[in-house]
Amino acid sequence: MKTTADVVVIGGGCMGASVAYHLARLGVTDVTLIEREPQLGTGSTGRNAGGFRHQFSHPANIELSKESIALFARFEEAVGFPIDVWPDGYLFLLSSDASVASFRANVDLQRSHGIAVDWLTASDAAALCPGLDATGVIGATFCAADGIADPNGVTMGFARAAQSRGVEIRRGEEVTGIDLVDDRVIGVTTTAGRIATSRVVNAAGPWAAQIGRLAGVDVPVTPERRHIFIAQPPGGGSWDDEAHRGAAPANRLMVIDFESTFYFHREGAGLLFGMGDPDEAPGFDITVKWDFLPTVIDVAVKRLPALADAAVSHAWAGLYEMTPDHNPIIGATSVVQGFYTIAGFSGHGFQHSPAAGRILADLITGQDPTLDVAPFAPDRFAAARVSGELNVV
Ligand SMILES: Cc1cc2nc3c(=O)[nH]c(=O)nc-3n(C[C@H](O)[C@H](O)[C@H](O)COP(=O)(O)OP(=O)(O)OC[C@H]3O[C@@H](n4cnc5c(N)ncnc54)[C@H](O)[C@@H]3O)c2cc1C
Repeated sequence: MKTTADVVVIGGGCMGASVAYHLARLGVTDVTLIEREPQLGTGSTGRNAGGFRHQFSHPANIELSKESIALFARFEEAVGFPIDVWPDGYLFLLSSDASVASFRANVDLQRSHGIAVDWLTASDAAALCPGLDATGVIGATFCAADGIADPNGVTMGFARAAQSRGVEIRRGEEVTGIDLVDDRVIGVTTTAGRIATSRVVNAAGPWAAQIGRLAGVDVPVTPERRHIFIAQPPGGGSWDDEAHRGAAPANRLMVIDFESTFYFHREGAGLLFGMGDPDEAPGFDITVKWDFLPTVIDVAVKRLPALADAAVSHAWAGLYEMTPDHNPIIGATSVVQGFYTIAGFSGHGFQHSPAAGRILADLITGQDPTLDVAPFAPDRFAAARVSGELNVV
């Protein structure tokens, strides 16, 4: 085990793995990534729905999507490991005049960034999505280049490619301290010892605020529990079986009822669905709150009536990592020299991990990140300059 490193990355989710990979690609291979769990990708990364979309309201997020989704499409060629990608599109359903107005502006913005997004009527949306009840829908948007990818494959691909270039990956070890001299990082302390380093990357996802506190840096990331449920068709089998044909999409189209935040997509033989809980208080508890399921089902059956007779076979919960403006934090703080953060992706981080890791590696090595990183600046909250992402699901 190394006792010194150019860079120590804390956290082995998609963000930590991406930063390690992109640093190594730039020739910075004296890197140690530390993950406290026995395996990589078991935090938010291992609990997410795998969705990727260009349909954001903030230009910086659209750019993160463009770069990241392009990398998903050629991941094996670029990174050296195969991943599963299903570009079957995202369909947003809108039921209020306010949403229609803001999505009209979003579509204009997305198109100005070169994204092909269609504006649909309720009947167009129903035609695209077998089984959908579009009652009350007054508009919809569809981007065929959005879709679903494999979070574990992406994380492991980045991690293995980084390792093959010399990055050290340590699992089952927790960072317990960040050592400073004159507000400058000089090392990290872990449950296995100490590593001397002048640069630390906080890639601890929902736990990013705790890592910040170890260095005396305020990292405003709040954990918020979100549930995912898996539904099997009545009588078992697959939603593709003859008996259920037309009751649900055959492909992996992601459908989002924007007003309620209810969403679903096909997941193997079953259907994956989820919804935000407005009553959820911030916290680290990821116990499944089964008494929330009836609330979700009430909304769900109105949009996908076949779910009324479906059996929920299993469920899990994970943590969104929310920032006050729902934009991520990527970069160095002015408070402590050598302390970098890549966290706070507010529920849409998996899909942005390729570009975010590339940007942070550029910033650490003093390269031009080639896009405006001001919306991600770690110190932006102190200046109360908040104009963030509205399309949080
Ligand atoms: C239910 C759900 C659905 C989601 N759906 C989507 C989606 O469809 N599309 C999308 O793009 N995003 C989605 N997300 C969000 C996405 O999962 C996250 O934005 C992303 O995984 C964040 O990655 P991360 O690497 O920052 O965090 P994590 O994956 O949480 O990684 C952080 C790691 O840091 C480790 N760690 C923490 N403290 C320490 C320490 N002291 N020492 C060592 N290690 C430490 C943790 O063990 C953890 O493994 C979803 C999230 C949830 C919960």
